[in-house]
Amino acid sequence: MDMPVVNSCTVDTCAYNDQHSCHALAITVGNTSHAQCDTFFSGEEEGGDPMATAQVGACKMSDCQHNTQLECQAPGISVGYEKNQVDCLTYAPA
Ligand code: SF4
Repeated sequence: MDMPVVNSCTVDTCAYNDQHSCHALAITVGNTSHAQCDTFFSGEEEGGDPMATAQVGACKMSDCQHNTQLECQAPGISVGYEKNQVDCLTYAPA
């Protein structure tokens, strides 16, 4: 399996975000009921590797069409605000 790329993330307040790109090495998505970005961290510190583009390391949203064995197999994902929460916007419930 390949890990999909996080193509964009609009959450500027996250420590891993720089100019709408996520620079965590890998993110985790989802809890049992919601496609939230579990890696979101609103802190003063700058996180991640500025030379890296984030990938999706794991996703717990087993009901998503892109999910296989709790791994994301979408070509790429976008992250952003859904209502007031930081979510995977590519989430597609089956
Ligand atoms: S597209 Fe679906 S499987 Fe991939 S990270 Fe988003 S919610 Fe998880």
